[in-house]
Amino acid sequence: MDIHEYQAKEILAGFGVPVPKGGVAWSPEQAAFRAREVGGRAVVKAQIHSGGRGEAGGVKVCKTEAEAQDFAATLFGRQLATKQTGPQGKSVYRVWVEEATDIARELYLGFVLDRKSERIMIVASAHGGMEIEDLAEEDPESLRRMVIDPAAGLLEFQARELAFQLGLKGKQIGQMVTVLRACYRAYRDLDAMMVEINPLVITGAGDLVALDAKMSFDTNALFRRPQIAALRDPGQQDPREAMAADNGLAYVGLDGDIGCIINGAGLAMATMDMIKLAGGEPANFLDIGGGASPERVCTAFRNVLSDPKVGVILVNIFAGINRCDWIANGVVQAYREVGLTLPVVVRLAGTNVEAGREILRSSGLPIIAADTLAEAAEAAVAARPHPIAAE
Ligand code: GDP
Ligand code: MN
Repeated sequence: MDIHEYQAKEILAGFGVPVPKGGVAWSPEQAAFRAREVGGRAVVKAQIHSGGRGEAGGVKVCKTEAEAQDFAATLFGRQLATKQTGPQGKSVYRVWVEEATDIARELYLGFVLDRKSERIMIVASAHGGMEIEDLAEEDPESLRRMVIDPAAGLLEFQARELAFQLGLKGKQIGQMVTVLRACYRAYRDLDAMMVEINPLVITGAGDLVALDAKMSFDTNALFRRPQIAALRDPGQQDPREAMAADNGLAYVGLDGDIGCIINGAGLAMATMDMIKLAGGEPANFLDIGGGASPERVCTAFRNVLSDPKVGVILVNIFAGINRCDWIANGVVQAYREVGLTLPVVVRLAGTNVEAGREILRSSGLPIIAADTLAEAAEAAVAARPHPIAAE
């Protein structure tokens, strides 16, 4: 789960990272007020869950309150498209206004999960400001990596070593140690998946300040981080995924027209492959999980149908913990409650499979039954009302 820059700054500041003074604004007038609070000259920054806002025109250093207000007015309600958001962009309905900083140098600092070593890894570069993907391409030599031992934590000497590698001097060394340890603690204590400060700048006065901040959290740990969970902004999510998150479904939105309701992540991935092999495109990945009640199946149908591109639904259940009769009841219930008009292909296997098939047969509903995964995928592709034209 991603959060906004201003939220990440507030969290990191709480751990000791120096950030510019500022405030969030929900209207152009409030942006002017925030600019006055920091002395008139202020940076106005669109708050969306994406980097690359600077290049996309979402960040501006404004000389006066009036300029801050005018620029904010151009941002509110806009779909800001960056390199990372795709052409549809993300909607801006709050901005962050902070005191302008005099930049002498820009550094890159990131904390990520290194899955290979199963540890938190620091990635840093003396060459900040540009996105890490571009940095990795244009100046890979500048990247420093350091893996942190979870038993010992990030030790002072390691932090100092990194500070030296980045070419920091004098008081900056101590400041860098503070920043690194603060980010590490924030990462570890809050179940983060990523902390990124880009740019971490050296000001004209020679001090380190975090000019940007990005944090992302492990959704599986949100149950024990209620303050973090409260920062979720569904307005920044794909609406289909926001709905799924509210329903506790593991859902990923895709671009095709075959809506999928499947149990088990592995089976779901195999099904995506089968659909592609049969010449179709899945509209989503959805793992309905074990022990799915008819109500949950119904919820899954609603979620899949919230995507207007869906033209056919494929239900593929291998029931181990699940029971085919529950799933079948759920499909029948969904037909009635949701007023389903799209073709539905169902493939059931496993526990109570005969009972499940019987429920579908005797329902009188136009359900297309399939016995194998391959059959189901082919049937779904054939049942699409408006097949996507072959390119
Ligand atoms: P991003 O493009 O979404 O990553 O947004 P950033 O917060 O990183 O801002 C983009 C760029 O705006 C930075 O790399 C800076 O060059 C510039 N910028 C941001 N804040 C200030 C500031 O206070 N003073 C100056 N001079 N430039 C700033
Ligand atoms: Mn940035």
